[in-house]
Parts: sequence; structure tokens; C-alpha cells
Amino acid sequence: MQLMYHAFLIKYAEIAIKGKNRYLFEDALVREIRRSLARTGEGFKVEKEQGRIYVYCPEEYDYEETRSALEKVFGIVEFCPVMIYEDQGTERMAEDVLSYMEKTHPGYSGSFKVHTRRAKKSYPVTSMEVNAFLGERILEAFPASHVDVHDPELVLRLEIRERIYVYSLSYKGPGGMPVGTSGKAMVLLSGGIDSPVAGYMIAKRGVTIDAVYFHAPPYTSERAKQKVVDLARIVAQYSGRIRLHVVNFTDIQLYIYEQCPHDELTIIMRRYMMRIAEHFAEECRCLGLVTGESIGQVASQTMQSLAATDEVCTMPVYRPVIGMDKQEIVELARKIGTFDTSILPYEDCCTIFVAKHPVTKPSVKVIRKSETKLEEKIDALMEEAIRTTEVIEVG
Ligand code: ATP
Ligand code: MG
Repeated sequence: MQLMYHAFLIKYAEIAIKGKNRYLFEDALVREIRRSLARTGEGFKVEKEQGRIYVYCPEEYDYEETRSALEKVFGIVEFCPVMIYEDQGTERMAEDVLSYMEKTHPGYSGSFKVHTRRAKKSYPVTSMEVNAFLGERILEAFPASHVDVHDPELVLRLEIRERIYVYSLSYKGPGGMPVGTSGKAMVLLSGGIDSPVAGYMIAKRGVTIDAVYFHAPPYTSERAKQKVVDLARIVAQYSGRIRLHVVNFTDIQLYIYEQCPHDELTIIMRRYMMRIAEHFAEECRCLGLVTGESIGQVASQTMQSLAATDEVCTMPVYRPVIGMDKQEIVELARKIGTFDTSILPYEDCCTIFVAKHPVTKPSVKVIRKSETKLEEKIDALMEEAIRTTEVIEVG
């Protein structure tokens, strides 16, 4: 039978070493936990107590959903489901602990130790005494188990507060820093595998994110756009609300196609994407742009191409997956749950207008010269694209 745990103890590491900023980080973590749990149900209480964060659960809640919500909160290193018992003396404490053991580790036959922490210093029995006493009672009740204080397979933890907190299980959190502690960035989110992973990774550093997607109807379909909305929604489970800017890029693309050498299309297009993304980034008070580029992955992701794209940006461009192999990015995409959506086979505006032999080492000078051929209409087209941009809030 599944125990109905009363609470979760939240463990966090990185933020604990932040000195004076610690409280800001803890408050952000509490806020993020609340946000994530709000999707799961009502009645959770998240409280900061004596350097710890506890999530107190309502009487009825979905354990798996709660677990899955906590697994998505950056800043959590580990979390433990906790049973809470009234403090009614040591005999009753032993009975409660044995009942906990029977339910959580039925028939336990491995090594264990008991570890007690007295948060309530006035408690009349020392931690060592509680450890010894409970250890004996567990040995009696689980005769096949044995004590190993150095390297036990199971650590049964007790925290003596106003009530008695008992826990022994733990789950891994995603680590990182709570979103909202590191400023904001604008992610160029395509329907591919890489950019959702890039968005996840930057959010993991505590950065709040918004996104921009360039679509090219009728060359790209409504379903291709929906796929990006779906991806944003998955990333938002980790990052919190995302404002997704959907830019109609068709006229700009067609104009570039008409005016510029075809082997330079990708790079010129990418430069206009960056310019427009930067416009929205400024509007949303972002401090940087984020892409899913990785060096050498495709022709447009050589060092030269990346330099040529950066040249039009005044904001820093962050590329969290820059040093990752495709396989590593795929693994992460699977882990965070974006992969299956990313591989749905809808067209992408970059592949439609792609040249057979794109330049792989563009010279900024040459590209700039080609762009002068766009002078007549490009400003008006950019303004139009910005003006008609649709903003979709997800998460
Ligand atoms: P992804 O898997 O993220 O689509 P990719 O390997 O397909 O990346 P490119 O098509 O070269 O690579 O795009 C590089 C980056 O440029 C993307 O990771 C993304 O950040 C951005 N980008 C490309 N196309 C679009 C688009 N239509 N809308 C928004 N951003 C885009
Ligand atoms: Mg792509």
C-alpha cells in the first residue's frame, strides 16, 4: 500500500552557498515550487523553516503528479517524501517508525542506520539515544536486516520538531537555480530538437525566458506553428510562463530570395531573425538572445556563420548547447520531454528556402554587401512583421 506522505522536504545546494543572497534565492525557490504545484492541485503549503523548505500536502493529492511537478523545479537538488507524526513519547515514536518501515520498506532485509536530528533542542532524549533505541526496535521487527553505520543501503531519518518527521526515500530534482534569479532572455524557438533544449538549459540557470518563432505561411503550416506552441508549453513546465512571439516571416524571406545570392540565403535570413528577435528582446527587457546552435552541426553553424549572425546583434547571444553533440542534445530532449514533439515531421521555414550549396564560411563583408540589395523594402517589411506579430502566452 502506498503511504500517504504528509510533506516533502526540499533539498537545495547551489543556492545555499550564495551568502547574503541566500534569502532571495530561497524565496524564489519557494515561489517556483508554488507555481509548479499550482498545476497539480490546490492546498499545498510551501514553507521556509530554519534553513529548510517543506511542502505540506493537502489531505488528498496525486503523489505521482506532485513528484513530477517537483522534478521540474530548478533549484531543487533532491526531495524526500516525509511522514509526520505527533510527538507522543518515545514508545509511540517507535511504533510510528515501525509502521512507516512496514509500509515504505516492507520486509526490509538490507543494511540500515537511523539518523536523528533534533531541531527542537528541548527534546529530552539525545539524537544518539533515539538512533540506538529505534535501531534496536527495527532490528527486532525486521530480523533479516542489519545495522551498518558507515555505508548503509537505507538511512531512516528523523527530524524532531514540534512533531516527528520521518523519511527515507529521496528523488532527484533537476538542480540549477530557481527561475527568476538571473534576469531574462529571449529564446529563438524553432520546431527542432535543439532550441527547446537550449531554452531549458538557460532557464536552468535561473533565467526567465520568452520566445520568438518565425513562421512562413503558407510555406509552413498551422500545424508547424502548433508544434512550436506545444514545445513552448513543455519548456514552460520548467521555466514558468513564456510569452511566445509568432512572427510572420514570409515576405522577408521571399524578398531575400528575390534579391540575394541563394547560397547566402540561410545566413542572411538568420541575421534578420536576430534583428527582429532583438527588437522583441528589448521590448521584453531581456538581457540576451538564446539559440540552439552547436558548432559544426550544419553549414550555418560554423564559427564563421555564428560570427556573421552575431554581428547584427548588440545583445549577447547565448548558445547553451554549443559544445554538445547531437546525441547528447537528443538525450536531454528525451529527458525533458520535448523530443517526441520536436521530431514531428512538419516543415520549417529554414529548410524551405535553403540553397543546395550554402556558404559555410561567409565573409561578413560579402554578406553586408548582399544585404544592401534589400535596402528598398526591408525596413518596411521588418516593421510590418513586427507590427503583425502574434503573442501567445503559454504555461
Ligand atoms: P533546432 O533544432 O533548434 O531547430 P537546428 O539544428 O535545426 O536547430 P538551425 O535550423 O540552423 O538549427 O537553427 C539554428 C537556431 O536558429 C535554432 O536552434 C533556433 O534557435 C534558431 N531558429 C532557426 N529557425 C527558427 C525559426 N523558424 N524560428 C525561431 N528560431 C529559429
Ligand atoms: Mg531547425
